[in-house]
Amino acid sequence: MKCRICGKKPIIYMPQHRLALCREDFISWFERYTERTIKDFRMFTNEDRVLVTVSGGKDSLALWHVLRKLGYNADGFYLHLGIGEYSERSRRKVEEFAERLGAKVIVVDLMEELAGIPELKKATSREACSVCGLVKRYNFNRVAKEYGYNVVATGHNLDDEASSLLANVINWNVKYLGRKYPVLEEEEGFVRKVKPFCKFTEKETALYALLNGIEFVEEECPYSEDASSIFYKETLNRIEEKFPGTKLRFYLEYLRKVYPRFREVEERELQRCKVCGEPSPSEVCPVCRLKERVAERKA
Ligand code: SF4
Ligand code: ZN
Repeated sequence: MKCRICGKKPIIYMPQHRLALCREDFISWFERYTERTIKDFRMFTNEDRVLVTVSGGKDSLALWHVLRKLGYNADGFYLHLGIGEYSERSRRKVEEFAERLGAKVIVVDLMEELAGIPELKKATSREACSVCGLVKRYNFNRVAKEYGYNVVATGHNLDDEASSLLANVINWNVKYLGRKYPVLEEEEGFVRKVKPFCKFTEKETALYALLNGIEFVEEECPYSEDASSIFYKETLNRIEEKFPGTKLRFYLEYLRKVYPRFREVEERELQRCKVCGEPSPSEVCPVCRLKERVAERKA
């Protein structure tokens, strides 16, 4: 096999694109493809202020790297989740990387704002990832508005998107099918949310990060073992092995054929939380209710 561009020895073969590329050509292909995804989905332009939510992992740091390289106005946001040494190490990686990029990073400590994930898990008896998802979404949106960013970008890759699609199809979660899109437009109280890496596999983002010498946290969050998403990812990988190209096709065909049909199902009735003023499905938003519960426990 040869690199399709220059004929040198390839570093990767991507069956879904029938494309083999060498090191240099993979890097420039990856960057062009990111740019194309941003343009095709009208995610943002050079005029927008983009806040990249960085966890210290390969996807989010690689995303921040590419966006800066492409000339976008992109700063980082790290939410310290209070998950022991794992969160500490991640914060250090993010801060070191911000220095390398010469970019600004906003750090918010959940333990000061509310409580760390281990404590929230105990206070609610919910799964760690479910409570974590809730506080992340809330803080990404709140912090973006507070600091004047109009777009929040996350490093979700194809494996993330396709596996959560599979889980939701298996459970026929119709509401989800009308909401899962790489761009969620700005609406009352919410900034726009985008996923520029939605068409890259985990393997591709990891390779890009490695080739660019991006130092990311390799260990997984200790709660990720409970995450059912890992099971769905493994299942999809097994299907992909047998039928190469299925993962990307599954996701893109959903975007093209299924999403438009379910889109109208999604109608949210939101009011403002009477405590914090953020958009909320009830009088007091779920995060402010969490705060009350944590305070009760402490008392
Ligand atoms: Fe949060 Fe779960 Fe991800 Fe850990 S694995 S960072 S708890 S969502
Ligand atoms: Zn609130």
